[in-house]
Amino acid sequence: MTLAERYRSIQDEIARNCDLVHRDPDTVQLIAVSKTFPVDIVRKLYDLGHRHFGESRVQELLPKVEALPKDIVWHFIGKLQSNKVRAAAEVCQVIHTLESESQLREIRKLSKQIQVLIEVNVAEEEQKSGILSKDLDLFHKSVIQCDLATVRGLMTIGPIVREAEDSRSTFQKLRKLNEQLGGDWLSMGMSADFGVAIQEGATHIRVGTSLFGER
Ligand SMILES: *Cc1c(COP(=O)(O)O)cnc(C)c1O
Repeated sequence: MTLAERYRSIQDEIARNCDLVHRDPDTVQLIAVSKTFPVDIVRKLYDLGHRHFGESRVQELLPKVEALPKDIVWHFIGKLQSNKVRAAAEVCQVIHTLESESQLREIRKLSKQIQVLIEVNVAEEEQKSGILSKDLDLFHKSVIQCDLATVRGLMTIGPIVREAEDSRSTFQKLRKLNEQLGGDWLSMGMSADFGVAIQEGATHIRVGTSLFGER
């Protein structure tokens, strides 16, 4: 399949899942995860009309931002060391992976506002980044006290699953936590399970492999 065909088929899949749960497809933002893929492939998708892209490393993000059109909306989705917060915030509209007080301290030094999602380690996997559910309330309070961070909701990287259906309970938990905090955005679902994520209320799905191929 060509990139255009894969793009079309993902859009169809988004529409089909929205239909199942009576959602308007415009309420789901597809983030094309372009990490490890070269600029010319990103530009091909741009030329097909896509504008939202996700990157997970600042070193890779900056040259892409430089090389590509200015109306791209960049989402930072990777583990973000505090010393890279400034650089990421400079070029991204959304940071999906806020998880520490030290990142927040860096946000307080910025000269502009940045939209953030708090990353939650819903499945409580060891070695996984993100805030544990039990610590979320306290961390959320710090974030809302930070004038330069506009907290929009929650994000999770689900456990690796064999079938999309296996992600459902993780997504349901994240949705519930988000409702409790009054968030309006939910960033969840990747190539393997974005359909289920949409059924469970995802507003932002992060898709790499299904669009661009294996990394
Ligand atoms: C790489 C990555 C994705 C995309 O994963 P695919 O399985 O390739 O769709 C989504 N979210 C995050 C945080 C990632 O690092």
